[in-house]
Amino acid sequence: MVEVSVIVPFYNESESIDGFFSAIMPILKRLGLSFEILCINDGSKDDTLERLIGKKKRFPQLKIINFSRNFGKDAAITAGIDFADGNCAIPIDSDLQDPPDLIADMVAKWREGFDMVLARRSDRSEDSCLKRITACMFYKTYNMLSDTELPENVGDFRLLDRKVMDALKTFPERKRFMKGLFAFAGFKTTSIEYKRPERNMGTSKWSYWKLWSYAVDGITSFSIFPLKISIYLGIFVTFLAFARGLWIFFRTVLYGVDIPGYASTTVALLLLGGVQLMSLGVIGEYIGGIYNESKKRPIYIVRDVI
Ligand code: UDP
Ligand code: MG
Repeated sequence: MVEVSVIVPFYNESESIDGFFSAIMPILKRLGLSFEILCINDGSKDDTLERLIGKKKRFPQLKIINFSRNFGKDAAITAGIDFADGNCAIPIDSDLQDPPDLIADMVAKWREGFDMVLARRSDRSEDSCLKRITACMFYKTYNMLSDTELPENVGDFRLLDRKVMDALKTFPERKRFMKGLFAFAGFKTTSIEYKRPERNMGTSKWSYWKLWSYAVDGITSFSIFPLKISIYLGIFVTFLAFARGLWIFFRTVLYGVDIPGYASTTVALLLLGGVQLMSLGVIGEYIGGIYNESKKRPIYIVRDVI
């Protein structure tokens, strides 16, 4: 009988492992609850797996789920939720950017009767200006377009009750935008604030290009509004074209034949071409989504459970 399952994704985290376990073990032991730590090795290319196996010799509470290759953090958390035996689960990063001290507060809130306890970053002062602006724009756009509200400055670090885990297991989609899925699930939710420390070892696995694709995935998974934009744009451009046509007609009737305007023609052509290509791209994004989902490939593949 396990009370708390801690879910930790590891991708090339060889340098972080020692620090992580020495920080989290005393905290979990102090809780006085039975616990397990699900370590998901997400296809690391360094000696992360060997080090985890070494840790398991010291801490029998460890369960190592070794992926056949790198599937991404969202897939790793999905696997953690699938394999967890606990009455609640806490996904946490292995680089100590999610402070383990919060676990005690989360568990306290859980015992008060909350199904989900979010850890909310009180500020993003340690992030670069560009990252703060793009994050803010993402949340604004997402919340404008999607039916479910995505809480700002909240990551995957949170506590999930068994009820939430069971609900999440029924979501069949391959595209795992976890934050969105958590928000979609709903449940009785509260949050606690914390200041996110900087990554102490190794490097972040996120490039701006990856963040951009992540944002596009997030929005297209939870809103079909972008598909409809071309309808409104089309109506607007048609109306403009119609009005201009009328204007040219009456001007020609009143003042005679107009001198052909190459500039306005080419501008209109280019504008329409651009709008059409963009709309095609948006449609392509969704068709790609349908294509990927329809293959029904597994979200992750486990090589072995240790
Ligand atoms: N991670 C993973 N698979 C990946 C990328 C990252 O399992 O493909 C893990 C990584 O080991 C870490 C967590 O996800 O435990 C967060 O990664 P990172 O620190 O790079 O992201 P950030 O903190 O910058 O959001
Ligand atoms: Mg990190």
